[in-house]
Amino acid sequence: MNLKLSTYISEEQIQKKVQELGDQLTKKFKDTEIVAICVLKGSFMFYSDLIRAIQGDVHCEFFGVSSYSGTSSSGEVKVTLDLAHSVEGKHVILVEDIIDTGLTMNYLKSNILSRKPKSLTTIALLEKPDALKVPCEIDMVGFKIPNDFVVGYGLDYDGYYRNLPYIAQVQNFQ
Ligand code: 5GP
Repeated sequence: MNLKLSTYISEEQIQKKVQELGDQLTKKFKDTEIVAICVLKGSFMFYSDLIRAIQGDVHCEFFGVSSYSGTSSSGEVKVTLDLAHSVEGKHVILVEDIIDTGLTMNYLKSNILSRKPKSLTTIALLEKPDALKVPCEIDMVGFKIPNDFVVGYGLDYDGYYRNLPYIAQVQNFQ
């Protein structure tokens, strides 16, 4: 894919923020085991950096959902990979890439809460407050951004650009 990209959030800014979030989680869950859920695919890069910034016992789980086609939310959430283990009675952190309409995070929250965790902490690297279609409360957010379509650091455009180490905006987008 050969679209023109401009840096939106640099690798340095991301890594600094990830460390801050990791430090907050280390403090919050001092001496307490947690289960960290990676929401696939978009959050895999944020997730892998974030869990390395947490000091303590972290169990890893992966939850696959798809809710997007092209550059607009379909509003429908489909589970593509379920959790491998029960999270009942566990302290769970749910790691998402970006909150756009809020529909996916609301679905994820109710899905995980129905499995009766001891606590649920929701984290998103990015949030677009102006794009929310439903109220959606997140415990920890890395960056609030305008209602722009972004790629990189796990986020794709039709499967491309997930491997960029920074967040970019596609310039010649209609
Ligand atoms: P929501 O349900 O909040 O509308 O959408 C959440 C999902 O849509 C995210 O997990 C992400 O996969 C995708 N998404 C939302 N905004 C963007 C964006 O700006 N860029 C990319 N690549 N994906 C996005």
